[in-house]
Amino acid sequence: MNDIVLRDTIVEVNLDNIAYNMKQIRKMVGDNIAISAVVKANGYGCGALDIAHTIMENGADYLAVATLTEALELRRKFRDYPIFIMGYTPDEQLEYIVKNNITQTIFSLRQARILNELGISHGKKPTVHIKYDTGFNRLGFIDCDESISEIEKIFKLDNLNVEGIYSHFALESVEEDSKQYNNFMAAVNKLDLKGCNFKYRHICDSIAGVDYPQYRLDMIRPGAIIYGLKSYDAENIRLKQVITFKSKVYFIKNISRGEGISYNYLWRAERDSVIGTIPFGYADGYPRNMRDKGYVVIRGKKAPIVGVICMDQCMVDLTDIEDAKEGDEVIIYGDGTNGTLDVQAISELADTNKNEVVCRLSRRTPRIYIKDNKIVKVLDYLLD
Ligand SMILES: *Cc1c(COP(=O)(O)O)cnc(C)c1O
Repeated sequence: MNDIVLRDTIVEVNLDNIAYNMKQIRKMVGDNIAISAVVKANGYGCGALDIAHTIMENGADYLAVATLTEALELRRKFRDYPIFIMGYTPDEQLEYIVKNNITQTIFSLRQARILNELGISHGKKPTVHIKYDTGFNRLGFIDCDESISEIEKIFKLDNLNVEGIYSHFALESVEEDSKQYNNFMAAVNKLDLKGCNFKYRHICDSIAGVDYPQYRLDMIRPGAIIYGLKSYDAENIRLKQVITFKSKVYFIKNISRGEGISYNYLWRAERDSVIGTIPFGYADGYPRNMRDKGYVVIRGKKAPIVGVICMDQCMVDLTDIEDAKEGDEVIIYGDGTNGTLDVQAISELADTNKNEVVCRLSRRTPRIYIKDNKIVKVLDYLLD
């Protein structure tokens, strides 16, 4: 089924923009800092398998994911790329880590020992990064001397490659972040004095990687910025949004003043209106709370979403777009040019963040990959 598109609601993924963003990130950090490119949540909606190559070819050193299954999905297709799991993997599943040469986050001597033993029995030397909690309070060794001595013991395990140590910022404020950084470096320095040195010390995600050049250490873990999603304030890096979410007008009709639209008639026409029906809804990953706030762009003009957004369809007001026709292209969200809402704008209207907007994009929506302005691949998860 490879090159046919059997649905008109699609997510376009611009591979040139991914390449561009990766090059910008590489330029920003220079050649001596490693980039662990985050492709969790199906590559922020882009389809991890079909962007991984572009990311690795344009300056990434590692592919980072959250879960074992995300790592295994990548490993099946890419036998040699370094893959890093940032989340916890339960003891019973650690064997998959070892067999598949995946780098695992750990924060206990128990798991270090299990991996060490598994390494011996499989004739391998598993690679780990130690997670050290400096205040985020999610995962990681608690910041105390006992943890330091546990990490020392981990270092002494012969069959384990302790490659990295890392932490994660809460991004609450510059002051809090600097406290976290100082806690992290204090621990790293204590370990260093005990002969425990790490190839990769890292603490920056996208926002910190852009805003805190002084905290980049040996590696950064950018996700959002690879996809062209960035906070407004950072001006030191230019990025291009990767995703465009598109559909088509399927049906146009006239309704009279006073008529309601969609469930509960939460919208009623204040004038005789022209209404278009478009085949996308919250099951495709569009935030349902965009009702009365969002609009799509048709023929370069704004068409407000009217009425409750359904699971698979929604309605827009076309009254002021006189030349609108069935079959017209609809930009649900784009890069902000030509009047489109970009992911940043959608996230503000939907009261969430940019990452959530794109990682909600569901498997029902085919991904269309663009390179050199041409479609290079169609991926329909339901048919492939
Ligand atoms: C998701 C994640 C990242 C990437 O976050 P962005 O904000 O998208 O850059 C980095 N580090 C960890 C531990 C993560 O879970």
